[in-house]
Amino acid sequence: MSNVDPDAMHGPAAEIAALAVAGKRVCLTTHVNADGDGLGSEVAMVHLLRQLGAEVCVTNPTPVPPRFAFLFDDIADADAGTRSVRELRRADAIIVLDIADLSRLGSLAETVRERAVPVACIDHHVSPGTLPPGPRFVDPSAAATGELIYLLAREAGWTVTVPAARALYVALVTDTGGFRFSNTKPRTLRIAGDLLDAGVDPEQVYLDVYAGAPAGRPRLLAEVLQTLVVEEDIGLAWVTVPPGALERYGVDPDDLDGVVEHARSVRRVRLALLFREMSGHRVKVSLRSVGDVNVAELAKQFGGGGHAKAAGVAIQGTLAEVQATVLASARDRLRAI
Ligand code: 5GP
Ligand code: MN
Repeated sequence: MSNVDPDAMHGPAAEIAALAVAGKRVCLTTHVNADGDGLGSEVAMVHLLRQLGAEVCVTNPTPVPPRFAFLFDDIADADAGTRSVRELRRADAIIVLDIADLSRLGSLAETVRERAVPVACIDHHVSPGTLPPGPRFVDPSAAATGELIYLLAREAGWTVTVPAARALYVALVTDTGGFRFSNTKPRTLRIAGDLLDAGVDPEQVYLDVYAGAPAGRPRLLAEVLQTLVVEEDIGLAWVTVPPGALERYGVDPDDLDGVVEHARSVRRVRLALLFREMSGHRVKVSLRSVGDVNVAELAKQFGGGGHAKAAGVAIQGTLAEVQATVLASARDRLRAI
């Protein structure tokens, strides 16, 4: 990759590069319960921005799930998750990845809001955003935030090393469901190709991300799938995580990644939901759709968000209450289209 004259750069690449100059402390953060895109984007940015001489660390509101710990193998010092607030308080700049809403930063939202430093955002969600001011690189047409980071690196002329490429490949693979979802565009696959050219081993990424499960993950899956309810006439399906199941199997919420796809896989289903009790008297709902049903709109109705075909929300109430409310709203929507 050729080096670009920084003076010739413009727009978000230049603004974000300007935050990461030598000696500056930069904190990278993403949404609660970070996923492969949030974490892959962060790890890639650690590698890219450290090349520029900045002091970079990852300050997330919730711990890195074991599935993605391998991304930090060669940069163990970068995960400052146990001292996030302290690091954020001494940062010269904050870069928020894969989310534009302050509230999705959970316990860190207040610290990020009250800091008078630039808060950059690189994201692919459809949201006006509620972050404090700073450079913005937001493009909902991107399959993953990792795709935007690759474009940024290319524009800025940053060298994409093997570990950075691997982290971006993880971002792309996870947010596209292994290049199967509708967000998989020609550009996504071209970038994936570039990342393989840069030295990523795709099978090793598959093994690291999907074939290192604790035994509790498939056992939990079996139990959750038993709860499947299908209303075939309107194309609605849902599954429910039995209360306490995560604890019983010794797994965490990340181990539920992809489970809602099984509900979406049923013939004629247009809207699939997964319900899970959370702490704080809240219920997490994951929403997926096929065809024209816009689940981001449905999630937004309850204060959540996401993409047209994959969205989520956490709602106050008991499992039974939240199910009743969300299912009623889902049925209304499905009957109207
Ligand atoms: P998942 O169901 O896999 O947790 O999330 C699917 C999509 O919905 C992701 O793009 C994620 O960012 C978004 N999402 C999940 N939970 C929430 C939430 O509580 N609030 C908002 N605004 N978006 C969410
Ligand atoms: Mn994403």
